[in-house]
Amino acid sequence: MNYLKDADPELYNILMREVVREKATLELIASENFVSYPVLEMAGGVMTNKYAEGYPGRRYYGGCEHVDEAENLARDRAKKLFNAEYVNVQPHSGSQANMAVLLTFLKTGDLIMGLDLAHGGHLTHGSPVNFSGKLFNVVSYQVDRKTGRVIFDEVRKLAKEHRPKLIICGGSAYPRFIEFQDFKNIADEIGAFLMADIAHPAGLIATGLHPSPMPFCDVVTTTTHKTLRGPRGGMIMMGKDMENPFGVVAPKSGRVKNMSELIDSMVMPGIQGGPLMHIIAAKAVAFGEALQPSFKVYTNQIVKNAQALADAFLKKDYHLVSGGTDTHVILIDLTNKGITGKAAELALEKAGITVNKNMVPFDERSPFVTSGIRIGTPAVTTRGLKEEQMLIICDLIDQIIVDPENDNIINHVNATVKELCYSFPLYDDLLN
Ligand SMILES: *Cc1c(COP(=O)(O)O)cnc(C)c1O
Repeated sequence: MNYLKDADPELYNILMREVVREKATLELIASENFVSYPVLEMAGGVMTNKYAEGYPGRRYYGGCEHVDEAENLARDRAKKLFNAEYVNVQPHSGSQANMAVLLTFLKTGDLIMGLDLAHGGHLTHGSPVNFSGKLFNVVSYQVDRKTGRVIFDEVRKLAKEHRPKLIICGGSAYPRFIEFQDFKNIADEIGAFLMADIAHPAGLIATGLHPSPMPFCDVVTTTTHKTLRGPRGGMIMMGKDMENPFGVVAPKSGRVKNMSELIDSMVMPGIQGGPLMHIIAAKAVAFGEALQPSFKVYTNQIVKNAQALADAFLKKDYHLVSGGTDTHVILIDLTNKGITGKAAELALEKAGITVNKNMVPFDERSPFVTSGIRIGTPAVTTRGLKEEQMLIICDLIDQIIVDPENDNIINHVNATVKELCYSFPLYDDLLN
């Protein structure tokens, strides 16, 4: 199809430049991935045209028979992937999934407890600049300065002192398994809800490489575009549905509604209108891929690559928060290398290596500068890179970090990056 090329060469060229960027750079942003052609095709398909407010079988619009089929498949496949009794695939993003859950389980002004953003948490876990910190009271827990892991004695102490109504576990820069069982014990001790945000490790959880939150958490949110390798979006799940504890009744029948019904109505009409049916259908395609045995081979390689990369950095005297990784994420504290996260991100970008600057626990620099970088292996693993190439990548990153302003080195590294990318091609069919 060349419709865009003919109709709007300006935008077509922008798109092609992005294709080339994705093809010719090493993507090490831990939250990014490359979707398959089938996912891309569905996400770019005609379901973008359809209004479908409501849920399958009970929409506010006609003509929904086919989008209903797609949404039902998305839900069924997600249930199977995560062993969940309830799934809502409509949240437009991970943040909106979190918003829907917090507004369903809590009243504004209630207290939530989440991992400190500077310690690996997420904006939506109570940051003052986010709705979660504006609508709710927040107490944050942190990780240990030495081990880089959540300190459960501290979490318990804080929980007992402040008695949050809901505890959030999970984060954006936590390299270790999320300790669902430990959080569950504490939530039970104080009678709090427990929410897991598995936006990052979802693909690892779906394939059994990371423990599942379902036996422990009341509700689970995720994105679909990180390790799960689907289109950009969010999702809410419950291992088991439950009767809501607030005594809210359905006005007509006098019936106590289940949490699933309350979550559904918080997503729509509570915070969203028409669902993105092309994206929901593309989620279904991605979940179908994730159910294939080959997806487990893929996620297993993600973790092997992250561990190979972590080991290589440790050998070069890099300080990794928590000393390594259980997942796809590596968080490097660059303090001993005399370079800020910001400067490292910039220099690496010039060499064709994309990472993001990231706060490290107890960081003394601002979020705009930071002392660390976060690295993830999902995207390069999708391209087919393996442990052998991780050693090369570590070496390239190290060359830049030790001499970030040397243009010769930057050019030399960039040439090797291009060669690597050329050997592991991506999206060749998208260029013409
Ligand atoms: C990425 C992420 C989100 C939010 O996802 P968006 O789709 O960007 O809104 C939420 N929680 C965690 C822990 C994340 O890592």
